[in-house]
Amino acid sequence: MSTGLGTRGAGPREESFIDPVSGQKIVKMGDMEFPPRKVWMKTFGCQMNYHDSERILSHLSDLNFEHTEELDQADMVLFNTCAIRDLSNNKFYSQLGEMKHAKKKKNGLVVGVGGCVAQTEGKELVKKYKHLDFAFGTDVIDTINDMVFRVYAGDNKFSINSWDRSENFSIETKIAHGSPQAFVNIIKGCNKYCTYCIVPYTRGKERSRKLDEVVTDIKKLVEYQGIQEVTLLGQNVNSYGKENNESLAQLLMELEKINGLELVRYTTSHPYDVSDELIAVHGSAKKLSKHLHLPVQSGSATVLERMHREYTPEHFLGLLEKLRKANPEIVLSTDIIAGFVNETDEEHRDTLKLLDIAQFDFIYAYAYSLRAKTRAEKMEDLLKDEIRFERLREIQAHQLKIQDKIRQSMVGQSYRVLVEDFGTMGGTKKWKGRTNCNRIVHFKPLNEEMDYKWHWVDVLVNSATALSCQGELLVDHGRRLNTLNH
Ligand code: SAM
Ligand code: SF4
Repeated sequence: MSTGLGTRGAGPREESFIDPVSGQKIVKMGDMEFPPRKVWMKTFGCQMNYHDSERILSHLSDLNFEHTEELDQADMVLFNTCAIRDLSNNKFYSQLGEMKHAKKKKNGLVVGVGGCVAQTEGKELVKKYKHLDFAFGTDVIDTINDMVFRVYAGDNKFSINSWDRSENFSIETKIAHGSPQAFVNIIKGCNKYCTYCIVPYTRGKERSRKLDEVVTDIKKLVEYQGIQEVTLLGQNVNSYGKENNESLAQLLMELEKINGLELVRYTTSHPYDVSDELIAVHGSAKKLSKHLHLPVQSGSATVLERMHREYTPEHFLGLLEKLRKANPEIVLSTDIIAGFVNETDEEHRDTLKLLDIAQFDFIYAYAYSLRAKTRAEKMEDLLKDEIRFERLREIQAHQLKIQDKIRQSMVGQSYRVLVEDFGTMGGTKKWKGRTNCNRIVHFKPLNEEMDYKWHWVDVLVNSATALSCQGELLVDHGRRLNTLNH
């Protein structure tokens, strides 16, 4: 593997031994010894960020850091930040400010900031927040142990936001959990430059891993780490493989051949890159989830043009039609931005109309949030907060009515579910899991003591509303399916 700044170079490596006096595991890196320590981590934003955090924690475990949920037990505090909207940005700044007190209370506490905000503002953050030791961007997370080494060596107050310039985007998936689900990064960056979006500036240019590497990686996850469900990740996953003359459709067909792999999901997609070949795969691939998240952003042709989305509402609706023809069971969802710059009431109404036609299973809707550096920053007539949030509420309420009707069609049907967790609903213990088509279903255990975590079960849905779906357990298949049918 070639090494750029995002991958580890020829610097010191971690070696471990047991201290004969304390009996503790000690990790030696270069001339420095690392006793057992704890790291607390707060992640903001999308699945990509959560996956990056998992990768960071996995690297840090090689440096003798154990993950803790208790802030007061931590020796190091890390934030993985999101820059996509103001909301998560603001939460991060207030929590970073509070760390000043934590650092006063605990001598030697290390504080670091990574991710999208650190990519663009790392240097300023380190200067402004005296209690911040280091900042690191999105493309250097694989060198986290080198950075932590540097901090413990006394060389703190630095920020690294360089881009990985190695020839290929080449990594191996790292997981730091015992679940049968794994996120697998297949493409990074984005070349689309939608006018409202900060991602191309925080995640850099689009680059894909080679198809063979991804397939080998997933085979290993299935064979050695018990993974049964993978989610292929990227900001624009269906642009995968362009520079290597490969495609997402080809990759999905290769994954069909892996024994023991039960379910494949992918996220997120841009409508521009949904090819006929990919649509056909949604009709033929047995392991591919019957759910597709396809962000439309707006139902107005003129707003889409100002957003530089490169498709019309008609083209988008045509894609939904083709997908539903290829796979009549497919469930579709989307993202909407409410109140984009200069959006007229009529343009807003076009979005409500599109929701009526598209019949999405669910949507993520956001009020437009102005991002510095983007092209939309320079557009005139930013709508007032009240208008943007009023339109957001209207979109959400409109969709809930549609969703309520769609979800009624689930009643009386049975679904295969991978059980994730349990909770209490109205005083009753209920387990919950996700169907193949990504709908959450709750069900009562046969008895309170039964542990269904990571079991595949069949559930008969007996009631459904727009936001929740209740069922009764039909069959418990245990942790492994004996059949590849879903
Ligand atoms: N790559 C995906 C696509 O093409 O749609 C989306 C990735 S983006 C991280 C997730 C969602 O955040 C977008 O679909 C969009 O709805 C929302 N988003 C991005 N920038 C935004 C902004 N400035 N204000 C509000 N929402 C935004
Ligand atoms: Fe952002 Fe997605 Fe557009 Fe890329 S394609 S700029 S990630 S919204």
